[in-house]
Amino acid sequence: MKTGQSHLFIPGPTNVPEDVRRAMNVPMQDMRAPDFGDLTLSLFTDMKRVLRTETGSVFFFPGSGTGAWEAAITNTLSPGDKVLMSRFGQFSTLWVEMAIRLGLDVHVIDVPWGQGVPVAQYAEALADDTDGAIKAVFVTHNETATGVTSDVAAIRAALDGADHDALLLVDGVSSIGSLEFRMEDWGVDLAVTGSQKGLMLPAGLGILGVSAKALEAAKHSTMRRAYFEFSDMVAMNAGGYFPYTPPTQLFHGMRAALDRMFCEGLDNVIARHHRLASAVRRGVTAMGMEIVAAEPCLYSDTVTAIRVPERVDARDVIATAYADYNTSFGSGLAQLAGDVFRIGHLGDLNEAMCLTALSVAEMSLARAGADIRFGAGVAAAQAYFAESQTEQTKTPIAAE
Ligand SMILES: *Cc1c(COP(=O)(O)O)cnc(C)c1O
Repeated sequence: MKTGQSHLFIPGPTNVPEDVRRAMNVPMQDMRAPDFGDLTLSLFTDMKRVLRTETGSVFFFPGSGTGAWEAAITNTLSPGDKVLMSRFGQFSTLWVEMAIRLGLDVHVIDVPWGQGVPVAQYAEALADDTDGAIKAVFVTHNETATGVTSDVAAIRAALDGADHDALLLVDGVSSIGSLEFRMEDWGVDLAVTGSQKGLMLPAGLGILGVSAKALEAAKHSTMRRAYFEFSDMVAMNAGGYFPYTPPTQLFHGMRAALDRMFCEGLDNVIARHHRLASAVRRGVTAMGMEIVAAEPCLYSDTVTAIRVPERVDARDVIATAYADYNTSFGSGLAQLAGDVFRIGHLGDLNEAMCLTALSVAEMSLARAGADIRFGAGVAAAQAYFAESQTEQTKTPIAAE
């Protein structure tokens, strides 16, 4: 019998705020009703604000981030097209595998896990491609398996520097809504995300930001697609409708989640993620653990992958946290299994929750055989929170 609250520190699905959950508890409604657009039309507009695009379009596909990956590829590319991709974690690896399965000619650059997108190698490949054979460049903005955030703006600069007109496809599933993401400024043509990470909703939506250039490419791409056809969406979305039954409950939840984000302020949401992540990283380091991301400039503000000491099995850490402390940590994926556990720190989260995560990590690491001085990680995070509290984040104790 488990008592009290359970604690979810996985990088998706993330905690759904209570008011968002309640907003979804509404009767089923007629998806062809004349006023259905009252619910949906504002979501297209407001998701563009989150993506920071003025000229792009937004599509909501019932599905998940993986479905949005597929929609991005099948709508804009043709079988045999040469594309530039890189692998540096489980999610970037899976997108490469999908691109191969769909019949693209994938030029893949393998990078050690813990590094990010290889900007210099992309720049070189683009500069060498004088006849424009490369049709698209793929970037996994935030590699959730390793806790690495890559520099999308630098890839845009590489494309522009080579005067190359390949499409830029970006996986922002674990970054959009939590980290700085500038679809327009970075010239992103396809921005992929899902509902269950930074957007604080249940899983069930694959979300795409699509540039005007990508919509134009969709008119000429010959890859087979049916369910994910952009033009069917374009035709129906204009009035707020969908080509098939949409998950109306999720839309009500999204309305509430976006309202929360705008109320906090998008820049404040990003700053909060940075502050909480900084505390988690300090805590983890003070425990004597190593962060998988190779350099501070690669540190992800939504997830930290933590390498455990050699004699410890990270699976034991995760199992103890779950069984004894009602707490979920993310596992080490693929080649990181057993060596790594992950703390997801994105979405609806605060200081006290991060301190809980660190505290449970210490208890579970100790049980798994790590040499832990209890409280060291928690204390480092507490000290950081205390020092970094600004006048904005501090509430006066006794208001006049
Ligand atoms: C979670 C995730 C995905 C997969 O999304 P699903 O919604 O599980 O299909 C893809 N890429 C990244 C970076 C992710 O974090």
